[in-house]
Amino acid sequence: MSKPRVLIVEDEPGIADTLQYALRTDGFEPDWVATGEAALQRQREAPADLVILDVGLPDLNGFEVFRRLRETGDVPVLFLTARADEIDRVVGLELGADDYVAKPFSPRELVARLRVILRRSTRAPAAPPALPFQIDEGRRQIRYYGQLLELSRYEYGLLKTLVERPGHVYSRDVLLDKVWDERSESLDRTVDAHVKTLRAKLKAVAPQLEPIRTHRGSGYALAEDLPAAP
Ligand code: CA
Repeated sequence: MSKPRVLIVEDEPGIADTLQYALRTDGFEPDWVATGEAALQRQREAPADLVILDVGLPDLNGFEVFRRLRETGDVPVLFLTARADEIDRVVGLELGADDYVAKPFSPRELVARLRVILRRSTRAPAAPPALPFQIDEGRRQIRYYGQLLELSRYEYGLLKTLVERPGHVYSRDVLLDKVWDERSESLDRTVDAHVKTLRAKLKAVAPQLEPIRTHRGSGYALAEDLPAAP
């Protein structure tokens, strides 16, 4: 199993260093950014498995960063708070954060909390929605509402990737990495062009549905709310 990737969003280098050291020692793969904007960008480009988010950041505050992270995904978030009123907000507003730790904190305790969060998020995934797709990996075929789609190799790879994690927003870069095997072909518009042809094929089966959603500036995701019948 690969190491869980943890993004640390913290503007105090001393705290970030301590955290990175503790995480690395404990088998995590830490990454560090010092601002909210950098965090959002990093999470778009290379999503972490978990985010440690300081509330007091120099640009956006942690609550705003959290809200924007939630617009595009459901990565678990552990807040770092420095003041009692911040703790009140994390707890009182029921932001949906997975946990919080008040500064000063013991790195060991924080790592233990991370383990709990990760166990929770991997052990009890949300009940998978019933999707109108059936993937036959052996034949590299996908059915949509029972109808066999005629897909090119890359259309198949794209659709399979999206279907396997409904609701998850994939950036064009990540899709290129996952689906295309030659970086020479790797242009953002390559992904867009294939999504376009793929959409046309899906439309031919169910004209009124749009299973592939565009998330502006961030990428594509499979709709989670497709009806049981077209
Ligand atoms: Ca801070």
